[in-house]
Amino acid sequence: MGAGDYYETLGIPRNADEADIKKAYRNLARKYHPDVCKEPGAEEKFKQINEAYSVLSDDQKKRQYDNMGHETYTNASKGQYSGGGGGYGGGGFSADFSGFGDIFDFFGGGQRRSGPQPGADLLMRIQIRLEDAVSGMDRDIEVMHTEPCSACSGSGSETKKLNTCPRCGGTGQMRQASHSPFGQFIRMTPCTQCEGRGKIPEKMCKACHGSGHTRVKRKVSVHIPAGIDNGMRLRMEGYGEAGDYGAHNGDLFIEVYVQPHERFARMGDNLETMIEISPAQAVLGTSVEIETIDKRHIDLKVPAGVQYNTALKINGEGVKRRGKPGDLLVRVKIVTPKSISKEQKELYEKIAELEGNGGSSGGFFSSIMGGKKKTKK
Ligand SMILES: [Zn+2]
Ligand SMILES: [Zn+2]
Repeated sequence: MGAGDYYETLGIPRNADEADIKKAYRNLARKYHPDVCKEPGAEEKFKQINEAYSVLSDDQKKRQYDNMGHETYTNASKGQYSGGGGGYGGGGFSADFSGFGDIFDFFGGGQRRSGPQPGADLLMRIQIRLEDAVSGMDRDIEVMHTEPCSACSGSGSETKKLNTCPRCGGTGQMRQASHSPFGQFIRMTPCTQCEGRGKIPEKMCKACHGSGHTRVKRKVSVHIPAGIDNGMRLRMEGYGEAGDYGAHNGDLFIEVYVQPHERFARMGDNLETMIEISPAQAVLGTSVEIETIDKRHIDLKVPAGVQYNTALKINGEGVKRRGKPGDLLVRVKIVTPKSISKEQKELYEKIAELEGNGGSSGGFFSSIMGGKKKTKK
């Protein structure tokens, strides 16, 4: 996949609006649709156009893409079969092709192409912890999918030879005539003997009963890049269902669900957490030990006079994607004690007394008055 920048792929400027994106996509998709364009590389180009559109047409994905940049967003997730073989490289980390529904409308509905059919795509959902989304991880997952039958190398034939289907003459289609008061209708249906393939095994493979496929469970190692967010999909090219003999496999899409964390919330590339301090600590300032999401300890200075709900920033302790990591925002909650000792009470009374008499530091009422004055225009 040598696909470049999605904006370049669609030939549009970075500030293109929704209508421009859609228009560019439709023009290009029409031009490069594999049923229409016979240029070499058209299918790959068509795939890239769809990939670009599926991201840029989705507000959330577009924002992520614009923020992360092309390289990070499409950062390859290199998965490998533990069983070896296959010959498929890693897939990209990209979005699904939800744009497809759109395109087929232009070409008169979902037409089944005759000849060998490519394998279906698979979608799998996995849950990961927020800390794994923040720093990235590798995970082995098990997938049930079809693979080419090893006994016949996917041909469905014991001799690995296929003959032209005698019923349809290799076209894969049959004409079905029906009579009605309006005249005779001819309908094309997939051939019942070869199921539309146009070829039948010379000698039916016993292991797969001629289908050429076997259903197996495979372990796939998935690299989950740092910065992945809820609902994003990783695409593992070629790890979907096996295609017909001679056609390519489908892709495996892994949709990521990030579990909520008890202490951290994610806001884009930043993380947010909360600390509680006492009124005295808020007034005088203090130092608080913060545990980061990967369980390191950092001393955070809380300045004197800090206000309720102020966010104190710790640089670079947010989501660790390549390039610029996000920050950790620590929100300050000031908790009023519900019960205090006799000594504390005496001291608070003393403070209250000072606030009441002096008024120099601005008590509750004076700040209300000040606020009123400001809003008066
Ligand atoms: Zn046939
Ligand atoms: Zn077989």
